[in-house]
Amino acid sequence: MTILNGLGLTRIPPEGEALRAEVRAFLQDAVKDIPAHIRAKSWSGYDPAFSRRLGEKGWLGMTFPTAYGGHAQGAFARYVVVEELLNFGAPVGSHWIAERQSAPLILKYGTEAQKQRYVPPVARGESFFCIGMSEPNAGSDLASVRTRAVPNDAGWLLNGQKIWTTNAQHCQYMIALVRTSGEAADRHKGLSQLIVDLNLPGVTVRPIEDMSGDSHFCEVFFENVQLAPDALVGAEGQGWEQVTAELAFERSGPERLFSSVVLFDQWLAFLRTEATPRAESLRLAGQILTRLAPLRALSVAVQEKLVQGQSPIVEAALVKDQGTVLEQYIPAAIADDLMAREGAAIPHELMLTLNYLTLVSPCYTLRGGTRSILRGMIARGLGLR
Ligand SMILES: Cc1cc2nc3c(=O)[nH]c(=O)nc-3n(C[C@H](O)[C@H](O)[C@H](O)COP(=O)(O)OP(=O)(O)OC[C@H]3O[C@@H](n4cnc5c(N)ncnc54)[C@H](O)[C@@H]3O)c2cc1C
Repeated sequence: MTILNGLGLTRIPPEGEALRAEVRAFLQDAVKDIPAHIRAKSWSGYDPAFSRRLGEKGWLGMTFPTAYGGHAQGAFARYVVVEELLNFGAPVGSHWIAERQSAPLILKYGTEAQKQRYVPPVARGESFFCIGMSEPNAGSDLASVRTRAVPNDAGWLLNGQKIWTTNAQHCQYMIALVRTSGEAADRHKGLSQLIVDLNLPGVTVRPIEDMSGDSHFCEVFFENVQLAPDALVGAEGQGWEQVTAELAFERSGPERLFSSVVLFDQWLAFLRTEATPRAESLRLAGQILTRLAPLRALSVAVQEKLVQGQSPIVEAALVKDQGTVLEQYIPAAIADDLMAREGAAIPHELMLTLNYLTLVSPCYTLRGGTRSILRGMIARGLGLR
């Protein structure tokens, strides 16, 4: 029964659905000139002007209070906007982390001054944040982070290194998980979250190139970076609890299901042009959809738990794990399908999109938490370890 309880709501309430047509009409026009292989980047894409347009439409910070530049709407209205943005492959990477994670974190744990300072520009699509959790020798074992901030007369003195920080080269701020007291052996104790202005002296950001040739993640070095006392978000030593709650937002959203959806749509459009589509292709289309639909329902069910103020860590891990498995399956299966058509003329843009996703999809099961770690969490949640 407890597992079934996790699957309560699987349909988006009408007040959320009401927005879909307007968002869809806007996107149809906004992305019409962007080629599919660029749209396939979607939440990894970077386009600050587009983020500002969304801010002007009121589609950023939808759930934030109006006192902080938000629109006080329900979480499902935001879910619908996010779902449509991803399905159109809109370039949302600039504001993605700030709007999904950083501003909600500041709203939940920050001081009044931090909320007033940081949240309104996020809702306008002008202020971008990155997440500094991973470190070269900590990786999945976040509790052993070594980057340390020592309290001093001026606030906090920060030293250390982060890695794989998405979009650090484009962001104004990082929320970093760092050790502020105790030793690495203390594990979850003594960790805190600090807002780091990436323009401060002593911060060095070095982009890393991935297999597709993009440089969307970075190494970030901190050498005697002096932070003000109000850099601390929430309570000193409570970083682990704060980060764990934050990860449920990161892992359960539609972005964990739809990374390959631009390719899937393009391939379906190609099948529709064929006089007699292959029976195997039609079977594959049905198979992908019958895997996508229940995963989306699960993501909606997790969203409902988040709305109720719960922290559905295990259910979110399940969405992330199974969602990314499907996101990796789609390019692999479509490649097999296209390669089976000897001599057929396959649209160039479809091949470019397939090429891009083939190169980036291996990272889907790494970013946001590796598959092995998520499966360990799910096993623990089921009482199996
Ligand atoms: C595209 C992309 C974007 C990213 N963006 C960010 C970001 O913005 N911010 C950020 O902080 N991080 C980011 N990451 C980092 C990502 O979350 C890390 O790659 C991840 O936490 C794993 O760390 P690691 O690479 O050091 O691997 P390791 O932790 O060294 O793991 C290597 C392998 O060992 C397995 N493993 C490790 N420990 C265990 C265990 N206890 N039990 C079982 N298996 C285990 C892992 O599952 C993995 O398969 C990003 C990664 C990618 C690929």
